Amino acid sequence: MTATFLDLAKVRNIGIMAHIDAGKTTTAERILYYTGVSHRIGEVHDGDTALDYTKQERERGITITSAATTCHWDGHTVNLIDTPGHVDFTVEVERCLRVLDGAVAVFDGVAGVEPQSETVWRQADRYGVPRVCFVNKMDRAGAGLDRCAGMIAERLGAVPLVLQLPIGAEAGFTGVVDLVAMRALVWPADAPPGADYDVVDVPSGRAEEARRRRGRLLDTLADADDRFMRLYLDGAEPAEEEVHAAIRRATIASAVTPVLCGSAFRNKGVQPLLDAVVRYLPSPLDAAAPGGAPGGPVDGAPLAALAFKIVTDRHLGRLTFVRIYSGRLESGASVLNSVKGRRERVGKVYRMHADAREEIAAAGAGDIVAVMGLKQTTTGETLCAPDAPLVLESMDFPAPVLEVA
Ligand code: GDP
Repeated sequence: MTATFLDLAKVRNIGIMAHIDAGKTTTAERILYYTGVSHRIGEVHDGDTALDYTKQERERGITITSAATTCHWDGHTVNLIDTPGHVDFTVEVERCLRVLDGAVAVFDGVAGVEPQSETVWRQADRYGVPRVCFVNKMDRAGAGLDRCAGMIAERLGAVPLVLQLPIGAEAGFTGVVDLVAMRALVWPADAPPGADYDVVDVPSGRAEEARRRRGRLLDTLADADDRFMRLYLDGAEPAEEEVHAAIRRATIASAVTPVLCGSAFRNKGVQPLLDAVVRYLPSPLDAAAPGGAPGGPVDGAPLAALAFKIVTDRHLGRLTFVRIYSGRLESGASVLNSVKGRRERVGKVYRMHADAREEIAAAGAGDIVAVMGLKQTTTGETLCAPDAPLVLESMDFPAPVLEVA
């Protein structure tokens, strides 16, 4: 058993938010596939979706806990937190948003911004969660990246930063032009899950349009980021790394929202989306604790963790998913639930993968883990060191939340 302390700069705690049917489940499943933790792809309505805990529990009897799933991409640890996407669960969405550092917003390329996307978007605004957008279903007739980006601007009041130009439409949607690197990424016609793309030159017929759009991208970025503006005004062609760095700063400041496109169902566009997640979305070091605790997470500091979801696991029983903001959460330790004013003993601590759980001796700031043995803690409550009580700012739950004296 290990006590793994992650390199926080390389952690992304993210959720996926979407209107129902936009493709959240398919996108999440493809992400798990590409990140190597799931090597089977099921159709989403077959009850064979790695992220769908209850379906799995019911139909296959396998324990897969979906509240948070740890996976890896390009040297980064990505904790994918399952954010319920339905209007009825607004409070639950908010609980999850509190523990995210960033999110992927999935849109249906035909329907664009739908009412429910607006609701969740505004919640994410309230919690200051930076986002990247994925315009999905580009293989459908009538899908439009520009129209969707226009709706993101008009209806959601965001500044979309369109990073790609789709190549082809409907069944002929084959790939995208990457407007930062100015190269084309092309997937095989019937891309199997996990299929890699070919990197080729921008098709000559699209070169002029790609240049124009890249110009627009850089203009938008310069307006959003002063450092990039100064560089841009010098007139030199900015290096790819400088453009990425500026997009990251502007995204974390919520001054822009990068927009990418693809077809999760046809296995196109998901790898660049993962690249965008690790390149542009914040690490726990970039994000403040709820209530604006300054300075980012500190490993040496006393424990402060927030319980955000309780699930009943067939084999393990009651599991409490927590986000650690500072300090260490150790198996066997006695902690204080500062909201209830009660001590709790931490049982086993797990990092949950899509198809396996990994028992760890302790977890540190910035991490998201599942804890066994907590009997009294419910969602929204703070766990802390008994000698250093604190409450991570409570939010407006419909049920009364007791404040500590
Ligand atoms: P969710 O409700 O947002 O989780 O959406 P799902 O992932 O369950 O997808 C809803 C429906 O859209 C399913 O029938 C998917 O097969 C389909 N779908 C998902 N992604 C795509 C896509 O890229 N293209 C097309 N044509 N259909 C898709």
